[in-house]
Amino acid sequence: MRPQCLFPLFAPVTTLPGVGPKMAPLYERLAGPRVVDLLWHLPTSVVDRRFTAKIMEAPAGRIATLEVRVDAHLPSDNPRRPYRIRCVDDTGFLHLVFFHGREDWLRRNLPEGEWRVVSGLVEHFNNEVQITHPDHIVPLDQREAVMVAEPVYSLTAGLSLKLVGRTVAAAVATAPDLPEWQDATWLARQAWPSWKEALTTLHHPADAAAEAADSPARRRLAFDELLSNQLALAMVRAHMRRLSGRELAGDGVLRTKVMAALPFSLTGAQQRALAEIDADMAAPLRMLRLLQGDVGSGKTVVALLSMLTAVECGAQAAMMAPTEILARQHMATIHPLADAAGIQVALLTGRDKGRARQAVLDALAAGEIDLVIGTHALFQEDVRFHDLALAVIDEQHRFGVHQRLELTSKGRAVDVLVMTATPIPRTLLLTAYGDMDASRLDEKPPGRQSVDTRVLPLARIEEVVAAAGRAVASGARVYWVCPLVEESEASDLAAVEQRHAHLSEEFVGRVGVVHGRLKGAVKDSVMAAFAAGDVSILVATTVIEVGVDVPEATLMVIEHAERFGLAQLHQLRGRVGRGRGKSTCLLLYDAPLNETAKARLEIMRATEDGFRIAEEDLRLRGGGEVLGTRQSGLPEFAIADLSIDGDLLAAARDDSSLILARDPELASPRGDALRTLLYLFDRDAAVRTLRSG
Ligand code: ADP
Ligand code: MG
Repeated sequence: MRPQCLFPLFAPVTTLPGVGPKMAPLYERLAGPRVVDLLWHLPTSVVDRRFTAKIMEAPAGRIATLEVRVDAHLPSDNPRRPYRIRCVDDTGFLHLVFFHGREDWLRRNLPEGEWRVVSGLVEHFNNEVQITHPDHIVPLDQREAVMVAEPVYSLTAGLSLKLVGRTVAAAVATAPDLPEWQDATWLARQAWPSWKEALTTLHHPADAAAEAADSPARRRLAFDELLSNQLALAMVRAHMRRLSGRELAGDGVLRTKVMAALPFSLTGAQQRALAEIDADMAAPLRMLRLLQGDVGSGKTVVALLSMLTAVECGAQAAMMAPTEILARQHMATIHPLADAAGIQVALLTGRDKGRARQAVLDALAAGEIDLVIGTHALFQEDVRFHDLALAVIDEQHRFGVHQRLELTSKGRAVDVLVMTATPIPRTLLLTAYGDMDASRLDEKPPGRQSVDTRVLPLARIEEVVAAAGRAVASGARVYWVCPLVEESEASDLAAVEQRHAHLSEEFVGRVGVVHGRLKGAVKDSVMAAFAAGDVSILVATTVIEVGVDVPEATLMVIEHAERFGLAQLHQLRGRVGRGRGKSTCLLLYDAPLNETAKARLEIMRATEDGFRIAEEDLRLRGGGEVLGTRQSGLPEFAIADLSIDGDLLAAARDDSSLILARDPELASPRGDALRTLLYLFDRDAAVRTLRSG
């Protein structure tokens, strides 16, 4: 149970003064639905309003707070011209400038003849001093309230800085003093404040230094967050270790049959990975292994051969994919091979309903099905296995730790193999998987073509259309990817549909389209038409990202490539170069690009090594953004930034192992405080492993 002292923080934002049901969705979009989410919404900068000057001495381009007497209102007769108010002091005059100013409001707040304190950005315009839309206008007796260092927050449409500042301050006011969870010696050495003090310092900054990357307050909170992350992972890991595993050593009968049916032999990397997996499965411990390999490195075969070991031992295996399309594709690959080995394989996805679904469930429970391939649908309550021994999770980071645990609860001592195609830099790997064992497929199957990558501005789109035309004429297939713009799904859809319409005019009857809004069956039929060559160009959002295999595809066009994470671009590019034809990837960008964006696209052009791309991207952009947007599924940190706080991650990991070595049940007073930390950062699943262990 979450400790009582955290209840106010986990209450909805509507429990804060001034936040009603109408504002709540805006705060949810900004930071999250709960009070605690606002605590982590740290200021991006600080505006120092303590600088004051006389009108004629106020330098342009500086935020200043001035005392002025309102001299005259100068309404404008032209609606395109601003409303101006002339103010004076003993050195001269300035204009306060308001576009679309409401006269009644202005006259009420700035009555002629009265003195006011105004604060804002000083400008010089036509040799006159002016302030456009002052941030504050108050009577003289409120001078002290204005002349402060004011935190600046990122905003969202409908929420002003004033509102957000007030609401975040209210959230901070509800924060209780919490027991100290950090090691006393470590804390003293770092000279960090307590949790509560750190929060207060950041949200009520004394000056701009409070928000600096190296400020003790920010570093303290970053470490708290990383410690919760590392401790949770270590606990889940320890929990898995405590559960005894079973010894699964196959006799190789099925594996021999499948190997004979494969049209190729395994690469060295595949053999090495398989040997590591075999050793794990044969040991009386739970396997928890990560199989990392670029798109096209041949993970599916490794997974299948591992699953056969479970079946040879008389048990069952399950393979879970993040999307319907991918589950079906795995099924298409595996089905004929399973037939060759004489074992039963079934597909189970969210689309199976009614009697057909029930038949699969019954057969699974009876042990008549040896292998099941599916999506999230495998998690459902009524899915029962006769004897599940191995779960393969092809996750592309879309599943969390607790979901992994959920699938394993469906069997007895289930071994787990997690597969990922996104090359993850070592530091990030730690945050997502802790110290999980890892096997790397760092060698591609023979005969892979390299992909010629070019970077060009969107203005040259007609050349790109011509290139697509040449590819289509030669009988090849073309992917055309339009990006997800996060603001609105509707506008994404519009972009995709517009491009589809445009290309359809050019290539009548040859263009298909897939995006997230289409019904599953429609999506499948479009993909099938593309695979079969009934359509030659597939316009798509990133739904095609995860593992579609069409060897005839030789051209990949990506619009607004600058908006994608490099790992994502790398994955998309991996969709071509899979067959015999010479392949090309065209990265179209919206000019002009800034230096970082230029450097990022240049890396894509220069190398096809996914691990190098990932490391470079981390260096250029920092951890939070490396894998691009929400889709990465890697933990997103609210406070920590791995390009700055990498040292803290290592410390947090060491601290976690020390904690668990000394106090595995978190039963000491510090252990108790650490439980609070875990709840504070939403690591409830990790705490639950304590009791069920
Ligand atoms: P991944 O899942 O790692 O992206 P896949 O498992 O889909 O890659 O494999 C990509 C393609 O390579 C498939 O068509 C597969 O049959 C083929 N393949 C796998 N292993 C080998 C190998 N050792 N030699 C030749 N082709 C292979
Ligand atoms: Mg795959």
